[in-house]
Amino acid sequence: MLEQTLSTQQAIELEAKYGAHNYHPLPVVLSRGEGVFLWDVEGKKYYDFLAAYSAVNQGHCHPRIIEALKQQAERLTLTSRAFHSDQLGLTEKYLCEYFGYEKALLMNSGAEANESAIKLARKWGYEVKGIPQNEAVIVAVERNFHGRTITVISASTDPTATRGFGPFTPGFRIIPYNDLQALEEALSDARVCGFWVEPIQGEAGVYVPDEGYLRQAAALCKKHRVILMLDEVQTGLGRTGKLLAAEYEGVHPDMLILGKAISGGTYPVSAVLSSDEIMLTIRPGEHGSTYGGNPLACAVVRAALDVIKEEGLVENSARLGEVFRNRMRQLQQKSSLVRQVRGRGLMNAVVVDDDESGNLAWNICMALKDRGLLAKPTHGNIIRFTPPLVITEEQIHECCDLIEDAILSFGKNSH
Ligand code: PLP
Repeated sequence: MLEQTLSTQQAIELEAKYGAHNYHPLPVVLSRGEGVFLWDVEGKKYYDFLAAYSAVNQGHCHPRIIEALKQQAERLTLTSRAFHSDQLGLTEKYLCEYFGYEKALLMNSGAEANESAIKLARKWGYEVKGIPQNEAVIVAVERNFHGRTITVISASTDPTATRGFGPFTPGFRIIPYNDLQALEEALSDARVCGFWVEPIQGEAGVYVPDEGYLRQAAALCKKHRVILMLDEVQTGLGRTGKLLAAEYEGVHPDMLILGKAISGGTYPVSAVLSSDEIMLTIRPGEHGSTYGGNPLACAVVRAALDVIKEEGLVENSARLGEVFRNRMRQLQQKSSLVRQVRGRGLMNAVVVDDDESGNLAWNICMALKDRGLLAKPTHGNIIRFTPPLVITEEQIHECCDLIEDAILSFGKNSH
């Protein structure tokens, strides 16, 4: 039976009346997706340049992932971890071999994987490093984004994320991003168990640290016997032109935190990957989730990660990322509204000149929407461009034409 069809206006009004107002979406109501495309309820077609915050790296409704989802959904969806399933061990082995780790812990959301990483780092700190009970410190960085739970936002420096939500979880020390001196100083405190960081800061607006930052941070962690907890929830799985962004620096973190595209946008799955030494500090009954590692999630993960490898999405991201940034730099020559272009692979941001209203990035995204391309500003004047990694070169050029046309329509076209 077909659902009642709503107009854009009706759908937006329903959400406004009955839903929590915790997002400020662009006024577009989507009802279908395929590959790099989305369609709204009126049938208008768009290029998706957000890819659900990089969860849909494999493209919308990838047939292989959907087939795995359907087949598993008809057999077994949830057992809870009170019993074993014939899917969990297969997926844990698959993940460990795929990323080169000894143990995997499956959870659901990215925030939850980060919460799990914090618990693991603390437990390791007490049981292995010998930090006195309840004194463990995790070093995090300014402008971080790791999710929305109370403990995760306790390390946030973004007032929009924290305002009105205190009291917060203690045990974090915040240092500037991309600052090795501050890191060395912070890690010399013997109570530090973990350094928690994104290899490129995504939500903050695609901030790429200096070359060598992550490599030297990893060396400092080793020197001070601190766990490097790398949050690749957004940067991972081909987004930056490598399977993991850490590969740019030859870094293999002690703890790898994954989410989003690990299931190709079909189902909430996240994971922490680590060593026996760290993972086995948590024992039966000490951590878990009813849905974490369920058979449906497990089947989807293997299909989603197969697609990344077999369709060459990492290579595509690296190659087309160059094309995209080159085109945007050409646009920068034509429009003084484009202040900066930055990113790696298909994780890019265009920083635009603030106008008096402070709404320029939003207005550009509205103009893009009218032209059939969906993107969203982050932190005021930054527009993030992160299409599904299945996009082709021809499509990238077409989209760059749309972006150019939209930005040039705002005037200030030459320097
Ligand atoms: N970590 C990073 C780096 C993210 O970008 C995000 C989401 O954008 C998260 C964690 C949180 O993931 P989730 O929204 O699935 O909780």
